[in-house]
Amino acid sequence: MCVTAFCQNPACNHSKTLPLEKLRDRFGPDMPAMEWDLRPKLKCDACQCKTVGLIYSPDSNKTSGMGQNNLYGKAKGGR
Ligand SMILES: [Zn+2]
Repeated sequence: MCVTAFCQNPACNHSKTLPLEKLRDRFGPDMPAMEWDLRPKLKCDACQCKTVGLIYSPDSNKTSGMGQNNLYGKAKGGR
């Protein structure tokens, strides 16, 4: 699971991926992981504004890699 933060300042448009592990290190194990909880804590690195949006996405490297391995393993084993 990854969180991408993007600046909503049209003059800036900065975006950055926030690994949840890092957020947990910073805010502690009780870190609120929902967008409306996180958003007030974030600000743009580039322009320091607080209009930061968040996009949640699965960690594509890990999930797709594992899925492919599983599929290939089953396909090979079945034949
Ligand atoms: Zn910005």
